[in-house]
Amino acid sequence: MLLLALLLSAAPAPAPALPSAPLPLQAEAERAIPAPAAGALMEVSTGRLLALVRPEELVTHAHAPGSLMKLVAAWAALRADQGARSFECTGKDVHRGKVRTCWRRDGHGRIGLRQALADSCDIWFYKVARLLGPRRLLQAAREMGLGSATGSDVPGEVAGALPEPLPELSSPEFAVGRMDGLALTGLQALSLMGALANGGTLWSPRLAGPPAQRGKVGTRDELEDLSRALRDAVQSGTGAAASDLPIAGKTGTAPVPGQEEPLAWFAGFAPDDAPQVAVVAFVPEGLGARDAAAAASDLTRVYFQWRDRGGPSAR
Ligand SMILES: [Zn+2]
Repeated sequence: MLLLALLLSAAPAPAPALPSAPLPLQAEAERAIPAPAAGALMEVSTGRLLALVRPEELVTHAHAPGSLMKLVAAWAALRADQGARSFECTGKDVHRGKVRTCWRRDGHGRIGLRQALADSCDIWFYKVARLLGPRRLLQAAREMGLGSATGSDVPGEVAGALPEPLPELSSPEFAVGRMDGLALTGLQALSLMGALANGGTLWSPRLAGPPAQRGKVGTRDELEDLSRALRDAVQSGTGAAASDLPIAGKTGTAPVPGQEEPLAWFAGFAPDDAPQVAVVAFVPEGLGARDAAAAASDLTRVYFQWRDRGGPSAR
């Protein structure tokens, strides 16, 4: 008996499997986003998962967050009363002999938090990260649910990772989501977007059972400031590939060692003015943020069509 128990405990974790009762939008979502894209939809009022396509990318593996991390840094700035800060982006930042660049090489000019988040300016975030320091940045990340499992009932969930302690000089890399020891899961991104959309409740994304709350983030004003920037990101910023639908969200890309193309994320919610659903899309290797935003748009369309058929009430 003891031997059997030992054998069982040493057995590898089961491959992530979906429950026998399929999620309401699973089949349509799988058709909407072809491999290798992964993605998920979650009700923002309950944390219920509506679809989970290729959970191995979103649940059992964590990835570099790229610019999704700018949301965390922006929130840390708002909490530290630095939300009104503007910085000059010339396309290049030199600090203590280290040269860092913005993705926009000719620079964004003088900009504030809202435009910096919407247009994903790297320089604004390098500068604000130096001002905030590791302690505030890490605290915001932890409270937003990074570095710990969401408590989801999807099998095989990993916790992602936060670099602790975070070296002072690495704060800029942390704020833009590109450093060793920093990794995010799709479930965490979904949970965070749900909270921005629903007034601050961080849900455990669940396949079944009653809603499970894992935390609370942000004041009303802070959440409104972040949401406004996420609306801009899709309407006129880096998430424009999703702008055919009323979505708010953030793109993120990060290089992968040994891989030519970066990985790409889009995480957001819809409709942008009265959110019902959180969406995440992940492309392990593709054409970048554009692909991820387009996949998120395709998933959101599946949700809207279901809603318009009376979906959410027909449980
Ligand atoms: Zn810039």
